[in-house]
Amino acid sequence: MPIYEFECKRCRHVFERVMKVDEKCDRLPCPACGVKNPRKLVSGFYTNAWSNFLDTMERKVSPHKFK
Ligand SMILES: [Zn+2]
Repeated sequence: MPIYEFECKRCRHVFERVMKVDEKCDRLPCPACGVKNPRKLVSGFYTNAWSNFLDTMERKVSPHKFK
């Protein structure tokens, strides 16, 4: 099961939870203040992979930028 990162909307506490793919996060309580329905964050790995992908694409499309 994948691990997701969440940020509490009230106290900005960031925590990780293992969730089923179809599991809703709207009833997940913040471990710091207990407020439910935290914001789901995009994982760092995903962000880096996406950033690297865009970088690779840009090098192909406009290689003059990287000389
Ligand atoms: Zn909180």
